[in-house]
Amino acid sequence: MRILVVEDDPDLGRQLTQALTQAGYAVDLAADGEEGHYLGESEPYDAAVLDLGLPKMDGVRVLERWRSSGRGMPVLILTARDRWSEKVAGFDAGADDYLTKPFYTEELLARLRALLRRSAGHASATIELGDLRLDTRAGRASVNGEPVKLTALEYRVLSYLMHHQGRIVPRTELVEHIYDQDFDRDSNTIEVFIGRLRRKVGAGRILTERGLGYRLVDPRSDVALG
Ligand code: CA
Repeated sequence: MRILVVEDDPDLGRQLTQALTQAGYAVDLAADGEEGHYLGESEPYDAAVLDLGLPKMDGVRVLERWRSSGRGMPVLILTARDRWSEKVAGFDAGADDYLTKPFYTEELLARLRALLRRSAGHASATIELGDLRLDTRAGRASVNGEPVKLTALEYRVLSYLMHHQGRIVPRTELVEHIYDQDFDRDSNTIEVFIGRLRRKVGAGRILTERGLGYRLVDPRSDVALG
């Protein structure tokens, strides 16, 4: 999962980037409204954290422009404590949730998890496929109750596939959602991650659809469906 953070306060921007990276996301940080607007238009984010008070273009305008050009990713806005009217303007512009500064990182992470889940159609913090479980709260996976040890990037790959289970995820889409902008992307390394994941969660769970991408399946019910 890849998150865009638009925040002009350098300390807060750094803290958010660090906390989100630790929580298992690929993160891009934009320090003003114009850059944030541009990134949100040009890169496929799973969610955005958007400060409203921004230089060059304010957050409400950024959000309005994303929405009017059809960018539908969940957006959590950050507002100043005494600016209730900002929240109203933010929701009217298409925000999905908000936090008032100052806030606890844990709350931000919990709200983001909820937004990501809901946008992928999952109601619970634990996403399951057969006996494969992804605990999005703890950032852990298990098979048949046994914990599976994953690297940060393996977790990102599995998390994206779990959130989008039931459909084929093209390799290019996977690449765009697990790396941040500065990462030297090599789509061949995806094959390596998929290979490692197959060894860890079971080879039959991640199918390669030739020329199309990957599909996460429950091997037992897949057999039943023939
Ligand atoms: Ca600000």
